[in-house]
Amino acid sequence: MDSKQETIERIIDRALAQRIMQALSVGGSENRAANASCVQAKTEVLQVPVGISNRHVHLSRTDMDTLFGPGSALRRKKAMKQPGQFAAEETVTLKGPKGALSKVRVLGPLRPETQVEISIADGFVLGIKPPLRMSGQLDDTPGVEIIGPQGSVKTTQGVIAAMRHIHMPVETAAQFGLRNGEVVDVEVGGERGGVLRQVVVRATGDSVTEMHVDVEEANAFSLQNDELVRICGY
Ligand SMILES: [Zn+2]
Repeated sequence: MDSKQETIERIIDRALAQRIMQALSVGGSENRAANASCVQAKTEVLQVPVGISNRHVHLSRTDMDTLFGPGSALRRKKAMKQPGQFAAEETVTLKGPKGALSKVRVLGPLRPETQVEISIADGFVLGIKPPLRMSGQLDDTPGVEIIGPQGSVKTTQGVIAAMRHIHMPVETAAQFGLRNGEVVDVEVGGERGGVLRQVVVRATGDSVTEMHVDVEEANAFSLQNDELVRICGY
């Protein structure tokens, strides 16, 4: 198939997907991942397991030194699905103008910049409004006080609510005609089923296919860890 024909077929696929999505009511399916609109829209449908992120902190070397002592290292508690990423034994307290959240997990490895990922409701507790951002996009974000066993830091930026996103290897993205940074719709079945729009594809070489949502998004759709959802409109 030449590339022009491929492009035309993709446009037809998209139009068809949109029309079917509009025509069908969503949800109520026994198989939460199954939905007629997705199945009919494409001959092959990309199923993605869900990974639910609770509030967490990524620390810089400098802030790690302040919070846990000079030269301290994160202790690995549990590996995450994404290669090299792990939940650490270490936790911190976040303190904002209105309140505090304790036992907030630190995720490893250390990063160039400290980043605090919270939900919108966590923001109400702290008195901080987290902007919706992709990881690492920290310009014009609020700061927070982070308290560890050996000290505390008041960051001037780095508090975000993470944009929902799907990690996948570059080859998988190519196979389904998806590009890094592309925004897709994801469909969830079941009693609280619906469509999550504005899901960003993050296609990188060493990643494992997984959709990351925060606890509030997961609860709104009754999603469980490792549950399969489908990429539909793109
Ligand atoms: Zn992620």
